[in-house]
Amino acid sequence: MTYLKKELDAQALAAIRVNLSTRDQKLSPEPVCDWCGEAEPVVVYASKRMANGRFQQCWRWIACPRCERMIERENWDALRRRVTARFKKFYGAKLENRFGQGAISDDLIQDSVKVSLDAFFEYGIQATQDPGGTNAAH
Ligand SMILES: [Zn+2]
Repeated sequence: MTYLKKELDAQALAAIRVNLSTRDQKLSPEPVCDWCGEAEPVVVYASKRMANGRFQQCWRWIACPRCERMIERENWDALRRRVTARFKKFYGAKLENRFGQGAISDDLIQDSVKVSLDAFFEYGIQATQDPGGTNAAH
């Protein structure tokens, strides 16, 4: 099974930058991979549901070449490890900055990773399905 995606072109990246500029909290002013946080994502995956919970089809998860490869090969264990490493780094730094708490528990990290991946499995659109838009992958 493969998931519906499209290449991120200059126009799509510009739209993401505009969206990022309106957010109070962001990981980076530049678009980064939604999985691992790497710069220069190359594709975006379709979703049946928006990040805010509204059921509306959209282009939702942007991915770097390495994460895209893991998704295409359904190498979920590798992707899970990669996302876990990113979350540990991100949440660790965030807590350190806000509360001076240092490390965050592995359980909480694992829960966050599971929620992220489960959302993709549940709302990602299989490439064989027609999302009804004009940007369907061929
Ligand atoms: Zn990535």
